[in-house]
Amino acid sequence: MYFVHTPYLIRKFYNKKLIWNIPINEKKIFLTFDDGPVPGFTNEILSILNQFDAKATFFCVGENVKNHKKEFEEILKYGNLVGNHTFNHLKGRQTSFEAYISNILKSRNLYETKLFRPPYGRITAKQINEVSKKFKIIMWTVLTGDFDKNVSKEKCLKNAINYTRKGSIIVFHDNKKTKDKVLFALPKFLEYFSKKGYSFETLNENVLKF
Ligand SMILES: [Zn+2]
Repeated sequence: MYFVHTPYLIRKFYNKKLIWNIPINEKKIFLTFDDGPVPGFTNEILSILNQFDAKATFFCVGENVKNHKKEFEEILKYGNLVGNHTFNHLKGRQTSFEAYISNILKSRNLYETKLFRPPYGRITAKQINEVSKKFKIIMWTVLTGDFDKNVSKEKCLKNAINYTRKGSIIVFHDNKKTKDKVLFALPKFLEYFSKKGYSFETLNENVLKF
């Protein structure tokens, strides 16, 4: 079970080092894409983003970065940011402390970033303490449910539109299972909020200064 929109009390209950939204009063949205890069998909996301002059943050899986260098470079070429999402997409709570940290560092040997998102949002307090020495740990405000086989592409779009506010961090996935839904929902989401005067930015250092 998961929340499309993470309730305030849950966010508060979690460790203070986790970032769930950006506290701003400007019309800015922070799109994130987890699990890529994936050939034949990540590049389509990039071209949709470019059509709307939108930037996003991609939490890449190290193994995919290693295997798909070209796609990884494309993400950066268009002014997007990348974050660490472990090398093998590990579940923190089911992985020993040492193995989890070394898997993150294995990715860090491939590319530098100050951003980290734990796969499945599963991470222990001890892991948080260690990871936060080197990274800002980015959670989310809105999970679109694109990974959920019981969520249609229309519902995925509805989730994204209904729960997004100023400063929201939105999660989509660029992995093979989510392709149809993301390619359907993303352009409509961007169109909807562009018309309302929103812009789409990366989780860059200026944004995270709070
Ligand atoms: Zn993931």
